Amino acid sequence: MSVKSITILGATGSIGQSTIDVIKRHPDRFKVHALSGYSRMPELAKAAVDTNANCVVVPSDDAACAFRQAWSSSLPMPEIRVGEQALVATAAENDGEIVMAAIVGIAGLPSVFAAVNAGKRVLLANKESLVAAGSLLMSAVVQHGANLLPIDSEHNAIFQCMPPCSKTLNAIGKAGVKRLVLTASGGPFRRYPLEKLASVTPQQACAHPNWDMGRKISVDSATMLNKGLEVIEAHWLFSMGADEIDVLIHPQSIVHSMVQYTDGSVLAQLGNPDMRTPIAHALGYPERIVAGVDFLDLAAHGKLEFEAVQHERYPCLGLAYAALKDGQGACIALNAANEIAVEAFLQGAIGYLDISRVVEQTLQWQQRTDNSPVNSLADVLALNEAARTFAANCRQTTGSQITGTT
Ligand code: NAD
Ligand code: MG
Repeated sequence: MSVKSITILGATGSIGQSTIDVIKRHPDRFKVHALSGYSRMPELAKAAVDTNANCVVVPSDDAACAFRQAWSSSLPMPEIRVGEQALVATAAENDGEIVMAAIVGIAGLPSVFAAVNAGKRVLLANKESLVAAGSLLMSAVVQHGANLLPIDSEHNAIFQCMPPCSKTLNAIGKAGVKRLVLTASGGPFRRYPLEKLASVTPQQACAHPNWDMGRKISVDSATMLNKGLEVIEAHWLFSMGADEIDVLIHPQSIVHSMVQYTDGSVLAQLGNPDMRTPIAHALGYPERIVAGVDFLDLAAHGKLEFEAVQHERYPCLGLAYAALKDGQGACIALNAANEIAVEAFLQGAIGYLDISRVVEQTLQWQQRTDNSPVNSLADVLALNEAARTFAANCRQTTGSQITGTT
């Protein structure tokens, strides 16, 4: 068995760390070529020591300095590369056969494109890149023969339940597939009094009942904007229309998603809520490899519950469906506005309910102002920037009334 070399983009984050955990269990299969981190240089240095990485990518000279200072190992220090260009080049270079795309947000898009354009096996955690540039990215996958494997637990589950007509996602058939059902935990506010949602804190929003994740996706899970991003992600990955993708609340996060077939069969993938399972699935695919995850004990769980989504509690989900039906420009605006709003919420600058207000206002702005087609990565990034600017203005004037002006 040949040892595969891996580049982990976003190595200091939740998914990055889980990836390192799985890789370290298989020294006979995997070695690390490169790691990237945007902050937390001591953690990046530790990860580089743990994995014996050849190189690291950091955002600035200051970060490079902090990385050097944090290096206390007697091992030779890895090569340090600096800046966005270095990140993109590292994603594309031959030395990393597999790229784990685990940067959070639209910041991950250029490196995802670079890895796809280089025809790699790309393990896609960065859902925002599919939301903002789904059609371009899926075309690039086909054009360059990349092998895109979903890491998001729902999409990884669906991938596992799809018909076995192909070894690669790009060529997966959907023969007999009727609908996709994405499960959602409902987040920390599933039973919270609606009238009290206005005053919930970032700490409460980040306390996810089942998953231990980065702060941005934790807030997205509370608002269910995350599930909205995942509906759009599923649309691009599996060529299913908005009306063929359902969302179902499942508070235990054991059933990770399902595929309904025309004959009435429903296939589901189950497991403990631990991202090392989808990561190991995609790393080893088509083989199954050990992930370090406990086996699911259904008797101990006793019961699995399911319920319909209460849309008044999660307005962001409806906004995401509307954006998907509207088109790529709306999806870019949805994602950009959400990134700005979540950051503002995490900083205490706006309230929890303002997140959906900023997103809604930005979608209305996009409908009023933008009719230009999105044909290139540059078009995506330009619209993304304009939407961020609008959303940032919205959030400054936020409160009960938001009046964006650009
Ligand atoms: P995180 O916040 O824990 O980690 C994010 C990583 O991205 C870090 O390494 C950080 O240094 C890096 N980063 C942040 N801003 C950057 C920038 N501007 N440029 C370059 N790098 C930057 O996030 P996470 O929870 O690991 O999520 C990562 C991605 O995976 C997200 O797209 C998220 O939606 C997706 N995802 C996460 C989970 C999960 O369980 N955590 C599950 C499904 C999907
Ligand atoms: Mg998910």
